[in-house]
Amino acid sequence: MDSDNKLKDVGLKVTHPRSKILEILHTNSKSHLSADDIHNLLVKSNESIGLATVYRVLTQLEMAGLVQKNQFQDNQSSYEIKKQHHDHLICIKCGKIIEFLDSDLEKLQEKISDKYDFKLQSHVMTLFGECQNRDCKENN
Ligand SMILES: [Zn+2]
Ligand SMILES: [Zn+2]
Repeated sequence: MDSDNKLKDVGLKVTHPRSKILEILHTNSKSHLSADDIHNLLVKSNESIGLATVYRVLTQLEMAGLVQKNQFQDNQSSYEIKKQHHDHLICIKCGKIIEFLDSDLEKLQEKISDKYDFKLQSHVMTLFGECQNRDCKENN
């Protein structure tokens, strides 16, 4: 199975919780899931993997570089399969998350870092607002 190979590739032992959680993130690759979301999906598919295990495994997957952890809200992290770098737009009304990558913006950040004699390692860019989606407006 694909997720098992991914685990082996990064030198993690294949365990049931690890492959299940990786699988969930893969099948929901468009979404950004919290540990609770993942736990609920596990419960729905009759898996008896506790929330504490979910947190532990997510940290392991993050450290192995398979999963990206995002801090969109103060109190809850959301997780996604690690892919090409991108930034996010978040609708504060309906929670919709839009991913984007803008090369001008990326370059500008390098330029700013250079200007301050700063060696840039990473950045987090999250824009909050209201999406102009019809469904969003109608429901609020
Ligand atoms: Zn919205
Ligand atoms: Zn994302």
